[in-house]
Amino acid sequence: LMQIYRPLNFIGFVYRELRQGLTDIEEMFKLLDQDPEIEDKANAEPLAVTGPVIRFDDVTFHYDPDRPILKGVSFEVPAGKTVAIVGPTGAGKSTISRLLYRFYDVTGGAITIDGQDLRDVTQESLRSAIGMVPQDTVLFNDTIGYNIEYGRPGATPEEVREAAAMAQVGPFIETLPKGYDTPVGERGLKLSGGEKQRVAIARTILKGPSILILDEATSALDTKTERDIQSALDVVSANRTTVVIAHRLSTVVNADEILVLREGIIAERGGHQDLLAQDGLYAQMWNRQREATEAEEKLLQTANDP
Ligand code: ATP
Repeated sequence: LMQIYRPLNFIGFVYRELRQGLTDIEEMFKLLDQDPEIEDKANAEPLAVTGPVIRFDDVTFHYDPDRPILKGVSFEVPAGKTVAIVGPTGAGKSTISRLLYRFYDVTGGAITIDGQDLRDVTQESLRSAIGMVPQDTVLFNDTIGYNIEYGRPGATPEEVREAAAMAQVGPFIETLPKGYDTPVGERGLKLSGGEKQRVAIARTILKGPSILILDEATSALDTKTERDIQSALDVVSANRTTVVIAHRLSTVVNADEILVLREGIIAERGGHQDLLAQDGLYAQMWNRQREATEAEEKLLQTANDP
């Protein structure tokens, strides 16, 4: 009976927590940590961060044994560098970020940070070393200031303002009549996707992790918002070991290495110019996106013409 009761109790717990508005993605991960499959080993040690260097060694993964998602993925992110992952929808890009956060364990191969297998370190130490900017940040039903301060509880209002400024969301907050005390979330001011992502970036800047995972929003952004987010990301990823799941190719141009994932394998890899020269999948994606942007600009211009 306990076997049935425990999961039901867990679902009830998650449901109650969700109702209370505990909707932040990292909190979700914490709740889901209770997944009995992901447990700290009895002799788990805290992660000792030196580089940090991230390595994926021949990683395979499936959610369902009948459907392999990653089929032998190997790459390294050197300390302080940025690797961008691009590829068609469903290729397994976000799965890579979930594995790095140890939301799931790999089914084959290994992921290490500074030589330590993720399965051998405590989840708490792993997650405190990683800043995660998810695709769609769900905000707490609290003030916008609290939502940023959450990155480092106890940060001073001055530090919160500095982080907001670096994340390019400060000027927007200052136009609100209640400024940092403006309630946001489901019961407060609804922020746009781009504003929410910048709040998440400000939160991460405050947290100051040595590893950063950015899962870029897929939603279309206007050129100014895209530029603002880009410069916020540049600030937060500078000198941090960064993995970007990129949906807009404009983000990847400056990455140290770009991995093109297709059906669970790395089909192409290299810098932006190398990949264009290879004239393969990346070049196709790049040309398609450029055509779409040009068409959009033409449309806007026609609409603005008197
Ligand atoms: P997108 O660009 O659309 O975000 P992606 O490359 O990030 O796609 P993933 O989210 O990694 O793709 O998903 C890879 C595959 O794994 C998809 O086919 C998806 O349906 C499947 N998948 C993702 N999460 C789960 C899950 N929890 N259980 C079962 N299958 C899943």
